[in-house]
Amino acid sequence: MTASNSSVEHTETEINTLLILGASGDLAGRLLLPGLGRLISRGGAGSLKLVGAGTSDWSRHQWQDRVRKSFAQGAGDADDDAWPRLEGYIADSEYHQLDVTADGALASLLNSLEPPVAVYFALPPSVSEEACGRLGPSDVPAGTRLVMEKPFGSSAESAAQLNADLVRLVPEDHIHRVDHFLGKVTVLNILGLRFANRLLEPLWNNNHVEQVEVFFDEELTLEGRAGYYDTAGALRDMIQSHLLEIMALLALDAPATLDERDLRDRISAVLRASTIDPAATRRARYTAGTVGDRKVPDYADEDGIDPGRGTETLAEVEVSINNWRWAGVPFVLRSGKAIGQPRKGAVITFKPVPHLPTGFTGPDEPTRLVIGFGPGVVQLEIDVNGPGDIFELNRVDLKAELNEAEVLPYGEVLEGVLNGDPLLSVRGDTAEECWRIVEPTLAAWQAGEVPLAEYPAGSLGPDNWDTSRPIRPL
Ligand code: NDP
Repeated sequence: MTASNSSVEHTETEINTLLILGASGDLAGRLLLPGLGRLISRGGAGSLKLVGAGTSDWSRHQWQDRVRKSFAQGAGDADDDAWPRLEGYIADSEYHQLDVTADGALASLLNSLEPPVAVYFALPPSVSEEACGRLGPSDVPAGTRLVMEKPFGSSAESAAQLNADLVRLVPEDHIHRVDHFLGKVTVLNILGLRFANRLLEPLWNNNHVEQVEVFFDEELTLEGRAGYYDTAGALRDMIQSHLLEIMALLALDAPATLDERDLRDRISAVLRASTIDPAATRRARYTAGTVGDRKVPDYADEDGIDPGRGTETLAEVEVSINNWRWAGVPFVLRSGKAIGQPRKGAVITFKPVPHLPTGFTGPDEPTRLVIGFGPGVVQLEIDVNGPGDIFELNRVDLKAELNEAEVLPYGEVLEGVLNGDPLLSVRGDTAEECWRIVEPTLAAWQAGEVPLAEYPAGSLGPDNWDTSRPIRPL
């Protein structure tokens, strides 16, 4: 059932210049430019001019070298026609040395570029906030789009302040708050599965669903990002943003259309109804161990870590969605690093049948629907009559692969920005809601009300946590 996605059909875009602030940084080099390279190699990005900026004293040549390396990484097995096209973008691209927090520096660069411009803030969050705070409406040419990375603020209050600063500059639908988990294909796969199947949607509520879990457990550890991660932790890094958004897609009521307003209104309604009871949360931190064939040191001993902060590398929360459809159904969100068995997806567990005819034997397990992310998989786990003894029930998995994107996740993000489509961007109110939902838990953890457990790197989590639900195969 695997087929290629044909989202990249157009050649012209709404944006003429893509300005990447933080051009020398990790995000730009490792994710953004490779994503752009793949997008260009598949025919997207139009006649865009690429401009990089940062405080580093780079020559245009140095910048073009970096772009070429990242494009090569992203373009992968691009066909022969793609490289002349990629080289065209590289030759045309330029670099500007500037401190975005210096008076007037960003404004004057912005006004020297061919509009409309998309400004990608690939900067430390505090620098992005200061740069936006220093811009005035007259500094920003008409049609400008602002692309903000996560984390978007550090609390509901700071997110609201940042939103206020941004809407002074451009309209809300020109602000792209990035969540690269919300790739077009992921979003549409979930919506397609839910709303195109008569079999599923009537059961998708608290009459029939026992529990919904959303997991993102990864083998990766700090990967050199201690400076960021130790002040964030799993709750802020993964649950506050990505997993709440995925949860909202699983829980929303049917939108009338796939228009950004219809869909984002539905997402927002779910999040407004959501709360977490801090007493029902769990957190843990990995100790030394082995992940695959890699020896991993104790998190607390890693360079750049302050063990006294008590940062969690594994977090689990139970969200209540307090509305008619979902009251009483726990949505368990969990994300961890250095986990021995990666699990990336959602599990919808249905309630047991009201009565199993007496005479059947075998497993007494509920029906489950598993949706795996990256690679996209859908798997229905049901009981059928077994071989041998026809009265004995057996589990079978009905499995299909879901379509994958042709472009990389950041290519999907950029595609939306360049085409002026905010569908996959986090809306301002939603960004504030996601902080509002996790703030009581952050406060309880800060106050030491929930103990910080430990688990060896490479395990499934702390011994006494139930981690018995694998998502297979991912
Ligand atoms: P880095 O620290 O690697 O890069 C930050 C960049 O900001 C550098 O290129 C630096 O350029 C530039 N910079 C810093 N201060 C200024 C300034 N005053 N004026 C102009 N440029 C400045 O960070 P990342 O690339 O890792 O992260 C960037 C953003 O992306 C952050 O918001 C992060 O949370 C987010 N993010 C990162 C991910 C990742 O995997 N890296 C994943 C998801 C989100 P120079 O040295 O030239 O000044």
